[in-house]
Amino acid sequence: MGNAFMKSDATRNCVRCGRQYRESDDDAGRWNVDFNAGYATALVCPRCQTNTESLGAEIDSIELEGAGTADWNTLSDENRSDIILQVIEQRARTVIADHKDKAQMAGDTEVAFNLEAWAAEAIDGAHFFDGQPETVQAEARAAAASVIRQMLNLDEIGY
Ligand SMILES: [Zn+2]
Repeated sequence: MGNAFMKSDATRNCVRCGRQYRESDDDAGRWNVDFNAGYATALVCPRCQTNTESLGAEIDSIELEGAGTADWNTLSDENRSDIILQVIEQRARTVIADHKDKAQMAGDTEVAFNLEAWAAEAIDGAHFFDGQPETVQAEARAAAASVIRQMLNLDEIGY
């Protein structure tokens, strides 16, 4: 899923250094989508990512490969919370990107927005939360909604 949003040729270069995204490259799974770069969907290559961005991309690909559980038990509670928040943020980003991408491909300039549904989408697809109590999943959805609100600047307009 990590790169499913990279469908159009227009978005296939790193917005910071211009490097072209190629699926065959070793680091192809660690590219990020950046919404703060002034583009609807801007790609950032691993070399140009800040540490936080890079961690998010790393965690997302670990999670997707199902390999993240190996070291999970050795982490402190604090580290686990950090990682969970990173996963939520990364997934919220992906949900926003997917919706924007779908709208663009359909030629729409506006995206139908449903905060609750998007937050649920972000959490439902994360294996981290499979089998967790409903209270945990509800907390995760609330965190995802908060991230989505921030990313879309909805706090400013009082959504
Ligand atoms: Zn770059």
